[in-house]
Amino acid sequence: MRLSDRARTLPESGIRKFFELAEARDDVISLGVGEPDFSAPWSARTAAIDSLERGKTSYTANRGMAALRERIADHHERYAQSYDPAEEVLVTTGASEAVDLAFRALVDPGDTVAVHEPTYISYGPGIELAGGERLTVPTRAADDFALTRESLEAAGAADADLLVCCYPNNPTGATMTDEELAEVAAFCRDNEIRVVADEIYAALTYGEDHASIATQPGMRERTVVVNGFSKAYAMTGLRLGYALGPTEAIDAMNRIHQYTMLSAPTTPQYAAIEALDRCDGEVAEMVEEYNRRRRLVVSRFNEMGLDTFEPGGAFYAFPECGGDDEAFAEELLEAQGVAVVPGSVFGEGGEGHLRVSYATSMRELKEATDRIAAFVEGR
Ligand code: PMP
Repeated sequence: MRLSDRARTLPESGIRKFFELAEARDDVISLGVGEPDFSAPWSARTAAIDSLERGKTSYTANRGMAALRERIADHHERYAQSYDPAEEVLVTTGASEAVDLAFRALVDPGDTVAVHEPTYISYGPGIELAGGERLTVPTRAADDFALTRESLEAAGAADADLLVCCYPNNPTGATMTDEELAEVAAFCRDNEIRVVADEIYAALTYGEDHASIATQPGMRERTVVVNGFSKAYAMTGLRLGYALGPTEAIDAMNRIHQYTMLSAPTTPQYAAIEALDRCDGEVAEMVEEYNRRRRLVVSRFNEMGLDTFEPGGAFYAFPECGGDDEAFAEELLEAQGVAVVPGSVFGEGGEGHLRVSYATSMRELKEATDRIAAFVEGR
């Protein structure tokens, strides 16, 4: 069958390719996947089951259940974000749909979209599908992978129409403080750049609380914030996320959403209400556990000579392996049966690094880091 040029030219995900290699063996410890090893909190699962027992299997409102939108709006007060649940919140099928809708609602063909790299792999293809031109803004290990005004200027981002900002970051685990974000916000205001802020890891921080670019002066009206339940509540398979933003942006996104998705799936919306109402304790426990693992992994990598900056959020470490990261990852998998993702998959600045997910049990992390140390020793 003849395919559209758009579909034909879309590259295969570099992460997937790697998983297939890992899946071919059964002795592999995978530090490759970007998802929690926990299950969703039990009470959230029960709320989903209960909704099914009560026969709640219809569509919801296009924007998502009103009760859920209210909880989402309340929840975001903790990040000093204030949104009207009736007009400024849209519940989506994962954060993925929210990112896609944001691009489709904000990008015209030929618009330039600046993306700091290394970063999450879906933005490039999303921008391409919306007809935009991606402009890469490399971030540096020397800046702990924070986005800076200098890096934006050096990349020529002053002419961009939109900036994608993802902190806490996948794959680096980098976070940004309010002071650092103030510079980026000033750049966006000066150059009239709108922002898509993917804050899906906001709840997973290990030092300072999450800071959002949307709370900087003059930024709320030019920013769409994306978040969701996959990471904080270990609900990746339930496919629920949302967008927060000014009414006109959320309206436009909802107009696309109502034709392409109708509404986000109903059952997880019940789970999500419960998660927001009563699962702060479970989230805190998961964060504490990730933090223990983070400290272990970062210190082990530094001990074995793979320099690793201290990630402030998400559940990834980004050690430097030097040289050809793809060869390193392939040889490591071959020799020691440990799967990690080569940093170059995540764009410019990722080369010479590895993305290591520590959303894996302490036991496996100890075993995996022993094997990596043996590999590095023998190299
Ligand atoms: N944004 C980032 C930065 C991610 O890491 C991920 C998941 N890997 C997503 C969005 C997609 O999340 P969801 O499961 O909610 O679609």
